[in-house]
Amino acid sequence: MKKCCYYFGGGKSEGNAAMKEILGGKGANLAEMTNLGLPVPPGFTISAEMCDVYYKNNRKLPAGLEKEMDAYVAKIEREMTARLGDAEKPLLLSVRSGAAVSMPGMMDTVLNLGLSEKVVEGLAKKTNNPRFAWDAYRRFIQMFSNVVLGMEHHDFEHELSTVKKEVGANFDTDLKQDDLRNLVRRYLTLVKEKTGRNFPSDPKEQLIRSVKAVFASWNNKRAITYRKINNITGLLGTAVSVQAMVFGNMGADSGTGVLFTRNPITGAREIYGDYLMNAQGEDVVAGIRTPKHIADLATKMPEIYAQIEKILNGLEKHYRDVQDVEFTIQEGRLFILQTRNGKRTPSAAVIIAVDMVNEKMISREEAVMRVKPGDLDNLLHPTFKPGAKRKVIAKGINASPGAAVGQVVFSADDAEAWAKEGKKVILVRQETSPEDVGGMHVAQGILTSTGGKASHAALVARGMGRCCVVGCGDIEVDYTKRQFTAKGGVVVKQGDFISVDGGSGEVMLGKVETMEATNITQYDTLMKWVDGIRRLKVRTNADTIHDAEVARKRFAAEGIGLCRTEHMFFAPDRITAMREMIIAATLEEREKALAKILPMQRADFLGIFKAMDGCPVTIRLLDPPLHEFLPQEEGAQREVAESLGVSVDVIKQKVNNLHELNPMLGHRGCRLGITYPEINKMQARAIMEAACEAKKAGIKVMPEIMVPLTGTLAEMREAKRHIVESCKAVLREKGMKLEYMVGTMIELPRAALVADKIATEAEFFSFGTNDLTQMTFGYSRDDIGSFLPEYLEKGILPVDPFQSIDQEGVGQLIRMGIEKGRAARPKLEVGICGEHGGDPASVKFCHRVGMDYVSCSPYRVPIARLAAAQAVVEERKTAPKKAKKAKPARKASRKR
Ligand code: PEP
Ligand code: MG
Repeated sequence: MKKCCYYFGGGKSEGNAAMKEILGGKGANLAEMTNLGLPVPPGFTISAEMCDVYYKNNRKLPAGLEKEMDAYVAKIEREMTARLGDAEKPLLLSVRSGAAVSMPGMMDTVLNLGLSEKVVEGLAKKTNNPRFAWDAYRRFIQMFSNVVLGMEHHDFEHELSTVKKEVGANFDTDLKQDDLRNLVRRYLTLVKEKTGRNFPSDPKEQLIRSVKAVFASWNNKRAITYRKINNITGLLGTAVSVQAMVFGNMGADSGTGVLFTRNPITGAREIYGDYLMNAQGEDVVAGIRTPKHIADLATKMPEIYAQIEKILNGLEKHYRDVQDVEFTIQEGRLFILQTRNGKRTPSAAVIIAVDMVNEKMISREEAVMRVKPGDLDNLLHPTFKPGAKRKVIAKGINASPGAAVGQVVFSADDAEAWAKEGKKVILVRQETSPEDVGGMHVAQGILTSTGGKASHAALVARGMGRCCVVGCGDIEVDYTKRQFTAKGGVVVKQGDFISVDGGSGEVMLGKVETMEATNITQYDTLMKWVDGIRRLKVRTNADTIHDAEVARKRFAAEGIGLCRTEHMFFAPDRITAMREMIIAATLEEREKALAKILPMQRADFLGIFKAMDGCPVTIRLLDPPLHEFLPQEEGAQREVAESLGVSVDVIKQKVNNLHELNPMLGHRGCRLGITYPEINKMQARAIMEAACEAKKAGIKVMPEIMVPLTGTLAEMREAKRHIVESCKAVLREKGMKLEYMVGTMIELPRAALVADKIATEAEFFSFGTNDLTQMTFGYSRDDIGSFLPEYLEKGILPVDPFQSIDQEGVGQLIRMGIEKGRAARPKLEVGICGEHGGDPASVKFCHRVGMDYVSCSPYRVPIARLAAAQAVVEERKTAPKKAKKAKPARKASRKR
């Protein structure tokens, strides 16, 4: 016969933490705490194997179970010097479910078991608190009737509100002892009416029936669905823990509280928490009475406090993590009810992890695993004060973290003008375009009504470290009236204050209080460990000297993975030359216009090379369709015509010619440079001239020239021919030697499919997963906001694929691209520069598929560094041998 029950109490137990399979998480934890010598109220856990037998037995209790239960109840009674069903010294029990995998709230529990009309009087007398006793009894009747007798809660709620109405009570807590006694009578009558039998007063019957009901709850609808959704299979059933109840409201020498072994807000090494004397657990959290700080207990009950201190120390050492501990003092005797890993703020997580390594409690690797990469956002950006009042009027997609408060403006020009006057502004647009970059730069935050995580607004804001919410379909922007209307009808006019939460995507009316990013020394230590562990390099996406400097100095980026050159064309002194180039009718005219741009580009590249001395810099040649550089509105077209000295019709004609139905699939990417080779040649020349100048100045330059949106080998070959021709010419003129590479972005499914062919020409690959996701799913990255929220809500998509790589689909193309590419060119350097390069799950994926680096916006570099280190630790844990196989091409050839 199998053992049915496992006792815990009196300093030792028959189980331990490793026995989750049969004791369930809860039972195993209770056993473990008891083994540690903690004063856990005694009890026993009925093995989950019994649940299995119960079902196999056609819902009958296994033979021998009742006998073991009797023996263990007697043991509890001895230890608690109380008896089940005894009015003088009543013992009350809790009966709780608990499977090997946590299924919070899915199965049933019965509390205060053992009460009857006789026992309730005894409890009232013993505790000198009749109100408490009657309240416990009415709760028990309700719970037992619901769980065991199958009655509905609302039947009891109806009785409760009737009594409350009768006596004019607003809250349950307003009910007096006699009201509760009256309520109990009503409850008992109701049970008799509904079930045809009296409520059971025999505690043994109560116990047996409760155990059966908890077993039965393993297969209630909720639990079955939960297991299905969470893929929980292969379990025996639920274990049942039967435990003595203890009460913190038994008088002046009783109390209850919740403690943390360290301060979960600041990370300080101090006991943190609150308690209340003569109270139940829920009183501490209900906010009716103000709990006292735990330090206060040291003076009130010094012995108990010393005991608590010792226990907390031991628990933290044992679990090697901050513990969140529930305790109760019953008549001067301390009981520990629960311990679990404590939740903490992001900054506390970093502080505690590093401190614990210094205290030799955990290893560096463990410390690195204890901090969530996404939490670093909170350390690097301002956030809203916890608890600050928020009047949320809309919610969009959280594109770039941070907390922004400012006055609403609707154009980039207004943003710049208002900012000049010293005002703090939030730029609200339907969407942004490259022309808005100046306004975005001066704004506190950016809010757009359309667009997804890879839209222009999102990626530019992330690059700047600016708070940004996109795809906010809850607002309707009206540029003519200079106002937006939120879903509920709230109208926000230009100049009104709003607050934008880039972390949650919420938009609030008025000013919400913010707090600055936290500065902690432990962060630097942690990041040093991170860098010692990770294999993936982390570069940044940056198109300005300033961003490059920030990424290198502040966030330790190891190069540039994507410099989008088109952003360099929008400054007022450059856009005219660019437009001249676009409207030029002949090659000569185009070359003349491009020659004006060349020195400006060269200066940018030089600055970037300087900022990235010793690191690779990947520069992408012009990518967007040319129409993006011309204005669409008539007024602006007139201005452009004037500045170029042509008639407005010339501009209009050009805009018409460039118009495309699907510009994302149109004349863009490498197609531009192939049809206008002079653009590629000019850009390659600017890069090489800057590189030569930098080298002369003692800078170590490592240029990587990148062709966008390649889909065929012929495209790559043609683009490379022009680039190399230009580079060679510069090197010849300068009489210098300089290593550089020419490679491509992999942004089209076709490019991944024929990666082996493309790699015969391309010396490196950089996965442009924004476009690759767009082209693979067929979702426009700028329009996804219109259906994404619903897709996520309905579970059609598990996550936004523009935020986290779709490993199942897009991931296959990436794997294939890398394999094929390296088959053709074993030392092919491979990286990623789509927005996914800063998403922790995607970074880990990039590690697993053997990339050399990830590249992301400057503020996400630390997140990527941490995720890359975690990927190594996870790999060591799961497949230590595989780690070697996945090694990437370490040294890509830089020679041409
Ligand atoms: C990409 O497509 O992933 C990419 C980085 O290029 P862009 O976002 O500029 O299209
Ligand atoms: Mg792209």
